[in-house]
Amino acid sequence: MTTEPPGSADLSGVFAYTWDLVGDPAAAERIASLGVGAVVLQAAYHSVRAMTPYHPVHRTVHATHAAAYFPLDPRQWRGKRLRPAAPDWGVDAPDRFGTATSALRDQGLRVEAWLVLTHSTAAGERAPDLTVRNAFDERYGYALCPAQPEVAAYAAQLVSAFCERYDAAEVPTLMLEACGWLGFEHGSHHEKTAGADLSAGCRDLLSICLCAACREGIEARGGDSAGLAQAVRRTVDAEMRDGVRAPDTLAESLGERAAQALLRHRQWVIEDLTRQVAAVAPGRELLLMADGDPQATGPDSGLDLGRFGGRATALVLKCWDEENRAVARVEEAVRDSERPVIANVSVLDEHPTDLARRVARLLAAGARQIRYYHAGLSSPARLRALRMANAQEAVRAIAGAGTRTTEGAA
Ligand SMILES: [Zn+2]
Repeated sequence: MTTEPPGSADLSGVFAYTWDLVGDPAAAERIASLGVGAVVLQAAYHSVRAMTPYHPVHRTVHATHAAAYFPLDPRQWRGKRLRPAAPDWGVDAPDRFGTATSALRDQGLRVEAWLVLTHSTAAGERAPDLTVRNAFDERYGYALCPAQPEVAAYAAQLVSAFCERYDAAEVPTLMLEACGWLGFEHGSHHEKTAGADLSAGCRDLLSICLCAACREGIEARGGDSAGLAQAVRRTVDAEMRDGVRAPDTLAESLGERAAQALLRHRQWVIEDLTRQVAAVAPGRELLLMADGDPQATGPDSGLDLGRFGGRATALVLKCWDEENRAVARVEEAVRDSERPVIANVSVLDEHPTDLARRVARLLAAGARQIRYYHAGLSSPARLRALRMANAQEAVRAIAGAGTRTTEGAA
């Protein structure tokens, strides 16, 4: 099967929040001036405190809980424990996503809806039994467990509600974040976990969900969930209390058989979630934020990319860390997966002057497109770097136009 990559060939994009646009008549033109072709626009998003350096009304926005930025029909959500809340920050508008989308489309920009599925403390507080539960029976209230049918149904309903509101001509693409498990890492403002100096292996163990649905899933794939929980507790305690560093891999900590059962369970649940989302989003491209390490949990779904049997038009790989590692990650994903790979590049963490080189290397490694993070959060110097890196990408695209196709997709 020969399929085009998302949008036109070599289309780059930039992330943006609705509050970067709503109430700022100059915002869409400013974003268009970056030279990108697409904007990944916040449609359902977790809590955050954000700078808005260019907005005429506000300088900071504090989204105090997860919210949907498009109007919801209360009748559709009546009686549901998991339901998106409405925002009450930033400049209000009856339809924030729609308002921002119109402005972006008027500038000729393609709009991609940015949907965060399982990360919501507000929802977790209403339904604690549906949150991730570690081997010590402790709940992570910010993380809904996707193995719970009610959570998957919520994610699908969220996407369905979105697609009913905006047709595929208006918003042809959905970018899925947290389409899987968030683990131990939270990244909130008030974390007090760093001082325990947990190793990556130990964090991975604390990221394993052992809720009833996950125990069942692990058992169904030949694992012993009680034995697995015991092994996690033993290894975590040995590191935290006695300084015996946990092994790097789950196979070493848990045994090969248990680790394989866990990873097969996770892979299947994530694949199934993408299928449920795709079923309610006909005619849309699905960009899946993914991590080629099946052991990984977080906003990027940890997957064995070579075996991924779910639905995704393309895979979006986070390339925010050290440059050589990011390049190697993209090379590996391009080799393993038949789907196009898109590199998610941060303009925030990177020294802006290195951005153009990083982008050039990621494209050389096989990334088909770039999504820059983030149009609204960046200083003028960072936006200049973004514009330069993107201009270089555009030159390359013109040079290579018409010569490339992609094998395989959703
Ligand atoms: Zn679970």
